[in-house]
Amino acid sequence: MEIVREGVKKLREKGVKCFVVIGGIGNMVNSTVRGILKLYEIDTKWKSELYRFPKIPEKIHRKTIVFVYGWFGLWNDDLCSVDAAKTVCKNLFQILETTKNVKIIIGMRGDLYTKYKNELEEYSSLFSNKMIIDFEIFCNKYLRDFDELKEDCIISGCRCNDLTYDMLENGGDELIGMPLKVNVISKHHYSDVIDSYIKDNDILKAMKVHFTALHENEKPIYEWLMYICLKGHFSRTESFDKDLVRKLKFGIELSSFDEHYAHLRRYTRVSVSERRYVFWDPFIYICAFHHLYEKDKSKIMNHCNVDAILQLVRPTSWENKTPSSYVEVSADDEDVKLFRKRLLELNLLNKYKEHPLVQDAH
Ligand SMILES: [Zn+2]
Repeated sequence: MEIVREGVKKLREKGVKCFVVIGGIGNMVNSTVRGILKLYEIDTKWKSELYRFPKIPEKIHRKTIVFVYGWFGLWNDDLCSVDAAKTVCKNLFQILETTKNVKIIIGMRGDLYTKYKNELEEYSSLFSNKMIIDFEIFCNKYLRDFDELKEDCIISGCRCNDLTYDMLENGGDELIGMPLKVNVISKHHYSDVIDSYIKDNDILKAMKVHFTALHENEKPIYEWLMYICLKGHFSRTESFDKDLVRKLKFGIELSSFDEHYAHLRRYTRVSVSERRYVFWDPFIYICAFHHLYEKDKSKIMNHCNVDAILQLVRPTSWENKTPSSYVEVSADDEDVKLFRKRLLELNLLNKYKEHPLVQDAH
Protein backbone atom coordinates (compact mmCIF):
# COMPACT_ATOMS: atom_id res chain seq x y z
CA MET A 1 0.00 0.00 0.00
CA GLU A 2 1.04 3.54 -0.75
CA ILE A 3 1.17 4.66 2.88
CA VAL A 4 3.52 1.79 3.78
CA ARG A 5 5.95 2.73 1.00
CA GLU A 6 5.77 6.36 2.08
CA GLY A 7 6.65 5.30 5.63
CA VAL A 8 9.64 3.27 4.48
CA LYS A 9 10.86 6.18 2.38
CA LYS A 10 10.64 8.46 5.38
CA LEU A 11 12.47 5.98 7.56
CA ARG A 12 15.30 5.74 5.03
CA GLU A 13 15.83 9.48 4.87
CA LYS A 14 19.13 10.62 6.25
CA GLY A 15 18.83 12.08 9.71
CA VAL A 16 15.43 10.58 10.40
CA LYS A 17 15.96 8.48 13.49
CA CYS A 18 12.49 8.59 14.90
CA PHE A 19 9.04 9.22 13.59
CA VAL A 20 5.53 9.12 14.91
CA VAL A 21 2.56 7.60 13.12
CA ILE A 22 -0.71 9.19 14.17
CA GLY A 23 -4.26 8.13 13.36
CA GLY A 24 -7.78 7.88 14.74
CA ILE A 25 -9.12 4.74 16.41
CA GLY A 26 -9.44 2.12 13.72
CA ASN A 27 -7.31 3.91 11.15
CA MET A 28 -4.95 0.97 11.16
CA VAL A 29 -1.96 2.73 12.72
CA ASN A 30 -0.48 -0.46 14.13
CA SER A 31 -1.02 -2.60 11.05
CA THR A 32 0.40 0.17 8.85
CA VAL A 33 3.53 0.34 10.99
CA ARG A 34 3.85 -3.45 10.90
CA GLY A 35 3.75 -3.20 7.11
CA ILE A 36 6.45 -0.51 7.19
CA LEU A 37 8.67 -2.64 9.44
CA LYS A 38 8.29 -5.69 7.25
CA LEU A 39 9.20 -3.84 4.08
CA TYR A 40 12.09 -2.02 5.77
CA GLU A 41 13.46 -5.33 7.05
CA ILE A 42 13.41 -6.77 3.55
CA ASP A 43 15.04 -3.64 2.12
CA THR A 44 17.79 -3.22 4.68
CA LYS A 45 18.24 -6.51 6.58
CA TRP A 46 17.56 -4.66 9.82
CA LYS A 47 15.50 -6.30 12.55
CA SER A 48 12.43 -4.91 14.25
CA GLU A 49 11.19 -5.16 17.81
CA LEU A 50 7.72 -4.32 19.12
CA TYR A 51 7.02 -2.96 22.57
CA ARG A 52 3.66 -2.24 24.13
CA PHE A 53 3.67 0.91 26.24
CA PRO A 54 5.01 1.32 28.89
CA LYS A 55 7.48 -1.48 28.09
CA ILE A 56 10.73 -0.39 26.55
CA PRO A 57 13.85 -2.15 25.35
CA GLU A 58 16.48 -2.75 27.99
CA LYS A 59 19.28 -3.42 25.60
CA ILE A 60 19.15 -2.68 21.94
CA HIS A 61 21.38 -3.99 19.18
CA ARG A 62 22.50 -2.07 16.16
CA LYS A 63 20.39 -2.18 13.04
CA THR A 64 17.14 -2.45 14.91
CA ILE A 65 13.88 -0.55 14.52
CA VAL A 66 11.88 -0.23 17.70
CA PHE A 67 8.11 0.20 17.47
CA VAL A 68 6.32 1.39 20.60
CA TYR A 69 2.51 1.19 20.52
CA GLY A 70 -0.45 1.38 22.91
CA TRP A 71 0.61 4.72 24.38
CA PHE A 72 -1.18 5.76 27.60
CA GLY A 73 -3.18 2.52 27.68
CA LEU A 74 -4.34 -0.38 25.56
CA TRP A 75 -7.97 0.73 25.23
CA ASN A 76 -7.93 4.41 26.15
CA ASP A 77 -5.75 6.69 28.25
CA ASP A 78 -5.20 5.91 31.90
CA LEU A 79 -5.06 9.43 33.33
CA CYS A 80 -2.16 8.43 35.57
CA SER A 81 0.05 7.39 32.66
CA VAL A 82 1.69 10.73 31.83
CA ASP A 83 4.70 10.04 34.04
CA ALA A 84 5.15 6.65 32.43
CA ALA A 85 4.96 8.32 29.01
CA LYS A 86 7.70 10.75 30.03
CA THR A 87 9.88 7.90 31.24
CA VAL A 88 9.39 6.01 27.99
CA CYS A 89 10.27 9.11 25.98
CA LYS A 90 13.37 9.69 28.09
CA ASN A 91 14.52 6.13 27.50
CA LEU A 92 13.85 6.24 23.78
CA PHE A 93 15.75 9.51 23.62
CA GLN A 94 18.71 7.91 25.36
CA ILE A 95 18.68 4.93 23.03
CA LEU A 96 18.96 7.27 20.06
CA GLU A 97 21.77 9.20 21.73
CA THR A 98 23.85 6.19 22.70
CA THR A 99 23.28 3.54 20.03
CA LYS A 100 24.25 3.81 16.42
CA ASN A 101 22.02 2.57 13.64
CA VAL A 102 18.82 2.42 15.60
CA LYS A 103 15.48 3.85 14.56
CA ILE A 104 12.26 4.28 16.45
CA ILE A 105 8.62 4.43 15.38
CA ILE A 106 5.99 5.68 17.79
CA GLY A 107 2.38 4.74 17.03
CA MET A 108 -0.16 6.99 18.71
CA ARG A 109 -3.91 7.67 18.62
CA GLY A 110 -4.56 11.13 17.18
CA ASP A 111 -6.81 12.37 19.97
CA LEU A 112 -4.31 11.28 22.61
CA TYR A 113 -1.43 12.89 20.75
CA THR A 114 -3.29 16.20 20.81
CA LYS A 115 -4.24 15.77 24.45
CA TYR A 116 -0.72 15.04 25.72
CA LYS A 117 1.47 16.88 23.21
CA ASN A 118 2.33 19.66 25.64
CA GLU A 119 3.09 17.28 28.50
CA LEU A 120 5.75 15.64 26.35
CA GLU A 121 7.17 18.94 25.11
CA GLU A 122 10.57 18.16 26.59
CA TYR A 123 10.93 15.27 24.14
CA SER A 124 9.49 17.06 21.14
CA SER A 125 12.45 15.95 19.02
CA LEU A 126 10.99 12.43 19.07
CA PHE A 127 7.81 13.81 17.55
CA SER A 128 9.19 16.14 14.91
CA ASN A 129 8.77 13.68 12.04
CA LYS A 130 5.10 12.86 11.71
CA MET A 131 3.02 10.69 9.46
CA ILE A 132 -0.71 11.16 9.77
CA ILE A 133 -3.08 8.41 8.69
CA ASP A 134 -6.37 10.08 7.98
CA PHE A 135 -9.71 9.23 6.53
CA GLU A 136 -8.82 10.11 2.93
CA ILE A 137 -5.99 7.62 2.70
CA PHE A 138 -8.22 4.61 3.17
CA CYS A 139 -11.64 5.96 2.39
CA ASN A 140 -11.84 5.10 -1.29
CA LYS A 141 -10.32 1.67 -0.95
CA TYR A 142 -12.62 0.71 1.87
CA LEU A 143 -15.74 2.05 0.28
CA ARG A 144 -14.85 0.10 -2.86
CA ASP A 145 -14.34 -3.10 -0.86
CA PHE A 146 -17.60 -2.48 0.87
CA ASP A 147 -19.45 -2.01 -2.38
CA GLU A 148 -18.11 -5.34 -3.59
CA LEU A 149 -19.19 -6.99 -0.41
CA LYS A 150 -22.69 -5.64 -0.79
CA GLU A 151 -22.87 -6.77 -4.40
CA ASP A 152 -21.82 -10.29 -3.43
CA CYS A 153 -24.20 -10.60 -0.51
CA ILE A 154 -26.54 -13.54 -0.97
CA ILE A 155 -28.02 -13.66 2.49
CA SER A 156 -31.74 -13.25 2.24
CA GLY A 157 -33.06 -10.45 4.35
CA CYS A 158 -29.62 -8.82 4.81
CA ARG A 159 -30.06 -5.07 4.65
CA CYS A 160 -26.45 -4.23 3.78
CA ASN A 161 -27.55 -2.73 0.47
CA ASP A 162 -29.45 -0.05 2.37
CA LEU A 163 -26.20 1.16 3.95
CA THR A 164 -24.92 4.30 2.28
CA TYR A 165 -21.62 6.20 2.18
CA ASP A 166 -23.33 9.04 3.90
CA MET A 167 -24.30 6.90 6.90
CA LEU A 168 -20.72 5.68 7.31
CA GLU A 169 -19.17 9.09 6.87
CA ASN A 170 -21.50 11.27 8.88
CA GLY A 171 -22.57 9.11 11.80
CA GLY A 172 -22.22 9.87 15.49
CA ASP A 173 -19.11 7.70 15.45
CA GLU A 174 -16.76 10.12 13.72
CA LEU A 175 -13.90 9.34 16.11
CA ILE A 176 -13.78 5.84 14.66
CA GLY A 177 -11.82 5.35 11.45
CA MET A 178 -13.52 4.18 8.29
CA PRO A 179 -11.44 0.98 7.88
CA LEU A 180 -12.52 -0.29 11.28
CA LYS A 181 -16.17 0.61 10.75
CA VAL A 182 -16.27 -1.24 7.45
CA ASN A 183 -14.44 -4.22 8.97
CA VAL A 184 -16.87 -4.48 11.85
CA ILE A 185 -19.90 -4.24 9.60
CA SER A 186 -18.43 -6.79 7.19
CA LYS A 187 -17.78 -9.29 9.95
CA HIS A 188 -21.37 -9.03 11.08
CA HIS A 189 -22.89 -8.92 7.65
CA TYR A 190 -25.86 -11.02 8.41
CA SER A 191 -26.74 -9.84 11.86
CA ASP A 192 -28.49 -7.09 13.77
CA VAL A 193 -25.36 -4.91 13.53
CA ILE A 194 -26.36 -3.74 10.06
CA ASP A 195 -29.96 -3.02 11.07
CA SER A 196 -28.77 -1.02 14.08
CA TYR A 197 -26.23 0.87 12.02
CA ILE A 198 -28.86 1.88 9.48
CA LYS A 199 -31.05 3.11 12.32
CA ASP A 200 -28.51 5.02 14.44
CA ASN A 201 -25.39 5.45 12.27
CA ASP A 202 -23.25 4.67 15.26
CA ILE A 203 -20.93 1.68 15.36
CA LEU A 204 -20.49 1.60 19.14
CA LYS A 205 -24.26 1.62 19.65
CA ALA A 206 -24.73 -1.07 17.01
CA MET A 207 -22.21 -3.37 18.72
CA LYS A 208 -23.81 -2.76 22.11
CA VAL A 209 -27.17 -3.82 20.68
CA HIS A 210 -25.45 -6.83 19.16
CA PHE A 211 -24.05 -8.00 22.50
CA THR A 212 -27.53 -7.68 24.00
CA ALA A 213 -28.91 -9.93 21.24
CA LEU A 214 -26.07 -12.42 21.84
CA HIS A 215 -27.01 -12.56 25.49
CA GLU A 216 -30.50 -13.64 24.52
CA ASN A 217 -29.67 -15.96 21.65
CA GLU A 218 -26.21 -17.40 22.19
CA LYS A 219 -25.52 -17.47 25.87
CA PRO A 220 -22.25 -19.48 25.97
CA ILE A 221 -20.61 -17.25 23.35
CA TYR A 222 -21.87 -14.18 25.16
CA GLU A 223 -20.53 -15.44 28.47
CA TRP A 224 -17.09 -16.18 27.02
CA LEU A 225 -16.92 -12.69 25.52
CA MET A 226 -17.92 -11.07 28.80
CA TYR A 227 -15.39 -13.25 30.62
CA ILE A 228 -12.69 -11.97 28.25
CA CYS A 229 -13.94 -8.42 28.74
CA LEU A 230 -13.81 -8.62 32.53
CA LYS A 231 -10.44 -10.38 32.70
CA GLY A 232 -9.03 -8.44 29.74
CA HIS A 233 -8.06 -11.71 28.00
CA PHE A 234 -8.36 -15.48 28.20
CA SER A 235 -5.31 -17.68 28.46
CA ARG A 236 -4.96 -21.41 28.89
CA THR A 237 -1.74 -20.96 30.80
CA GLU A 238 -3.47 -18.91 33.47
CA SER A 239 -5.99 -20.33 35.86
CA PHE A 240 -9.64 -20.15 34.85
CA ASP A 241 -11.45 -17.80 37.23
CA LYS A 242 -14.17 -20.10 38.54
CA ASP A 243 -14.96 -17.69 41.30
CA LEU A 244 -15.81 -14.93 38.82
CA VAL A 245 -17.91 -17.31 36.71
CA ARG A 246 -19.86 -18.36 39.81
CA LYS A 247 -20.42 -14.77 40.95
CA LEU A 248 -21.76 -13.80 37.53
CA LYS A 249 -23.91 -16.93 37.39
CA PHE A 250 -22.31 -17.92 34.07
CA GLY A 251 -22.58 -21.49 32.81
CA ILE A 252 -19.24 -21.71 30.95
CA GLU A 253 -16.48 -24.11 31.93
CA LEU A 254 -12.84 -24.21 30.92
CA SER A 255 -13.42 -27.29 28.75
CA SER A 256 -16.23 -25.61 26.78
CA PHE A 257 -13.86 -22.99 25.31
CA ASP A 258 -12.84 -25.32 22.48
CA GLU A 259 -16.33 -26.27 21.46
CA HIS A 260 -17.29 -22.61 21.12
CA TYR A 261 -14.06 -21.39 19.60
CA ALA A 262 -15.13 -21.47 15.95
CA HIS A 263 -17.87 -19.01 16.75
CA LEU A 264 -15.69 -16.94 19.08
CA ARG A 265 -13.25 -16.33 16.26
CA ARG A 266 -15.56 -13.69 14.84
CA TYR A 267 -14.81 -11.59 17.93
CA THR A 268 -11.36 -12.62 19.05
CA ARG A 269 -7.83 -13.23 17.90
CA VAL A 270 -4.80 -14.84 19.46
CA SER A 271 -2.15 -12.45 20.64
CA VAL A 272 0.87 -14.47 19.56
CA SER A 273 3.43 -12.75 21.74
CA GLU A 274 1.39 -13.23 24.89
CA ARG A 275 -0.42 -16.45 23.95
CA ARG A 276 -3.74 -14.97 24.93
CA TYR A 277 -7.17 -14.71 23.40
CA VAL A 278 -8.21 -11.07 23.11
CA PHE A 279 -10.81 -9.14 21.15
CA TRP A 280 -9.63 -8.77 17.55
CA ASP A 281 -9.48 -4.98 17.93
CA PRO A 282 -9.28 -2.86 21.10
CA PHE A 283 -12.41 -1.07 19.89
CA ILE A 284 -14.46 -4.30 20.07
CA TYR A 285 -13.26 -4.61 23.64
CA ILE A 286 -14.53 -1.08 24.26
CA CYS A 287 -17.94 -2.03 22.80
CA ALA A 288 -18.20 -5.09 25.07
CA PHE A 289 -17.18 -2.96 28.04
CA HIS A 290 -19.84 -0.33 27.20
CA HIS A 291 -22.48 -3.04 26.84
CA LEU A 292 -21.71 -4.57 30.21
CA TYR A 293 -21.45 -1.19 31.86
CA GLU A 294 -24.83 -0.11 30.58
CA LYS A 295 -26.36 -3.39 31.69
CA ASP A 296 -24.89 -3.45 35.17
CA LYS A 297 -22.34 -0.88 36.30
CA SER A 298 -21.62 -2.73 39.52
CA LYS A 299 -20.45 -5.80 37.57
CA ILE A 300 -17.77 -3.70 35.93
CA MET A 301 -16.78 -1.83 39.07
CA ASN A 302 -16.62 -5.00 41.19
CA HIS A 303 -15.15 -7.48 38.74
CA CYS A 304 -13.55 -5.90 35.68
CA ASN A 305 -9.79 -5.63 35.38
CA VAL A 306 -8.55 -2.43 36.99
CA ASP A 307 -6.69 -1.17 33.91
CA ALA A 308 -9.85 -1.09 31.78
CA ILE A 309 -11.75 0.86 34.45
CA LEU A 310 -8.94 3.37 34.86
CA GLN A 311 -8.87 3.89 31.10
CA LEU A 312 -12.55 3.92 30.22
CA VAL A 313 -14.46 5.19 33.26
CA ARG A 314 -14.50 8.84 34.37
CA PRO A 315 -16.43 10.25 37.34
CA THR A 316 -19.61 12.19 36.55
CA SER A 317 -18.05 15.23 38.22
CA TRP A 318 -15.30 15.10 35.61
CA GLU A 319 -17.76 15.89 32.81
CA ASN A 320 -17.82 19.56 33.70
CA LYS A 321 -14.06 19.80 33.55
CA THR A 322 -13.33 18.12 30.28
CA PRO A 323 -15.50 16.82 27.45
CA SER A 324 -15.55 13.07 27.74
CA SER A 325 -14.39 11.03 24.81
CA TYR A 326 -16.72 8.92 22.68
CA VAL A 327 -15.19 5.78 24.15
CA GLU A 328 -15.52 6.76 27.82
CA VAL A 329 -18.36 6.12 30.26
CA SER A 330 -19.20 8.06 33.40
CA ALA A 331 -19.70 6.79 36.91
CA ASP A 332 -21.70 8.38 39.72
CA ASP A 333 -20.57 8.46 43.34
CA GLU A 334 -22.06 5.07 44.23
CA ASP A 335 -20.17 3.28 41.47
CA VAL A 336 -16.96 5.14 42.18
CA LYS A 337 -17.23 3.99 45.81
CA LEU A 338 -17.33 0.36 44.70
CA PHE A 339 -14.16 0.84 42.71
CA ARG A 340 -12.36 2.65 45.52
CA LYS A 341 -13.22 -0.21 47.83
CA ARG A 342 -11.61 -2.61 45.38
CA LEU A 343 -8.49 -0.52 44.96
CA LEU A 344 -8.19 -0.42 48.73
CA GLU A 345 -8.47 -4.21 48.95
CA LEU A 346 -5.91 -4.60 46.18
CA ASN A 347 -3.61 -2.15 47.94
CA LEU A 348 -3.60 0.09 44.86
CA LEU A 349 -5.35 3.15 46.27
CA ASN A 350 -2.12 5.00 46.82
CA LYS A 351 -0.74 4.16 43.40
CA TYR A 352 -3.76 5.73 41.70
CA LYS A 353 -4.44 8.53 44.15
CA GLU A 354 -4.12 11.13 41.39
CA HIS A 355 -6.71 9.46 39.18
CA PRO A 356 -10.02 11.42 39.15
CA LEU A 357 -11.92 8.23 40.03
CA VAL A 358 -10.03 8.27 43.31
CA GLN A 359 -9.12 11.90 43.80
CA ASP A 360 -12.51 13.50 43.06
CA ALA A 361 -14.65 10.91 44.81
CA HIS A 362 -16.27 11.77 48.11
ZN1 LIG B 1 -25.33 -8.40 3.34
